[in-house]
Amino acid sequence: MKEHAIHIRGARVHNLKNIDLDIPYGRLVVFSGPSGSGKSSLAFDTIFAEAQRQYLETLSPYLRQFFPQLTPPEVDLIEGLPPAIAISQWAGASHPRSTVGTISEVYDFLRLLYAKIGILHCPNCRVPLGTQSPENIVAELMRLPEGTRAMLLAPFVRQKKGQHKETFREIQKLGFPRARVDGGLVDVEELPSLDPNKVHTIEAVVDRIIIRPGLASRLIESIHLALKLGQGVMIVCHEQRDPQGETIWVDRLFSTTCHCPQCAASYPELEPRTFSFNSPYGACPRCEGLGTVEQFDPELVLDWNRGLGNGAVKLWSDPRESLKHHEKKLARLMKEGNFDWETPLAKIAKDYQVQLLYGQKTSRSRSASTDRFHENSSAAEGSNAGRSMFLGLLHLLEVEYQFLAEGRKRRAWSAYRKPVTCPDCAGARLGPVGRSVLVAGRAIHQL
Ligand SMILES: [Zn+2]
Ligand SMILES: [Zn+2]
Repeated sequence: MKEHAIHIRGARVHNLKNIDLDIPYGRLVVFSGPSGSGKSSLAFDTIFAEAQRQYLETLSPYLRQFFPQLTPPEVDLIEGLPPAIAISQWAGASHPRSTVGTISEVYDFLRLLYAKIGILHCPNCRVPLGTQSPENIVAELMRLPEGTRAMLLAPFVRQKKGQHKETFREIQKLGFPRARVDGGLVDVEELPSLDPNKVHTIEAVVDRIIIRPGLASRLIESIHLALKLGQGVMIVCHEQRDPQGETIWVDRLFSTTCHCPQCAASYPELEPRTFSFNSPYGACPRCEGLGTVEQFDPELVLDWNRGLGNGAVKLWSDPRESLKHHEKKLARLMKEGNFDWETPLAKIAKDYQVQLLYGQKTSRSRSASTDRFHENSSAAEGSNAGRSMFLGLLHLLEVEYQFLAEGRKRRAWSAYRKPVTCPDCAGARLGPVGRSVLVAGRAIHQL
């Protein structure tokens, strides 16, 4: 047990009377008591003072001369002190945009660290992008088990229609005998004939390797070449064992630019402000960096014992009027869910309660969110299909609220709202780019 706590023996700073105590790590510990009882003497003048003194002692004598000499606090023993941060009482510190990190300026250093060495993963497809130097790619590959076979590929054509005869000639001229066409290896000499009406993907096979010690120097040359031909993008196709122990070939995409080769999205270069949720540049656009958004609370705004026609939505004095543009869709939902204007909300089947509150989802719009790759096409179809779907009471209230002018009615309505975790950033406060930069596998908000 001894190592999991800060041990203090015989503290006598100011009016402390020879205090012994152990403070466990990883817990929120509060000292309470009337003023003058020694809370600050213990926290600031004993624990923090000693932590600061011990920290300064680790610096070289040369550096130490720039700091004032600190006298050790009056205490027999303090053990197990981690590096400490002290934040003193300060009016205004409880602003919702402040965290321990921002007040203590630790966060400023983290932002710099993430901007310099973080690796952006495409927010859409999780492909690592950006600051991946050829050296990083070599290091990644040398981590594969010895004996693994791999191909280094330079992408030439991605999902484009045509026969691409010119591309094959170019690859041939560059001295590469093989290419991968739509996933299969071909001999470039024979100028493969492709269906001009279909989309094709063509990559030149720049090198074929077997991972073994001492390979790094040859690897870096080939990687430089592949990246040059692929304009900053390359693919490594290597062997891997699947969970059944079978050998499969997997592709890994590497990019040295902030341009995603998979979904073609481009991202700005990383800067410290990318990670600042207090700047419009870095903040989650949905919640503007607060981590929460206000929404109507179904428990407050609905009376579950009433039907839609007689006051289930407390804010609508004439519900049929409020819903008149949605009558047909609502009628269809009522028929399907076997309820009417009089049915108390609580009596409606659970499934249909959800659809009534949050809106009906089409199978198409659902697939749009899971299949990011085809996002554009299916999202368009989804919105078409969405026209005949009921949008949901909470959505309709939200739209009405957004159009309310500042004033008494808006203030009255806002009493029925409460903050919920932002659905876009899940409380991370940062925009999609800031959330997708990893250092040692973790994003800045996951620290
Ligand atoms: Zn992408
Ligand atoms: Zn958000």
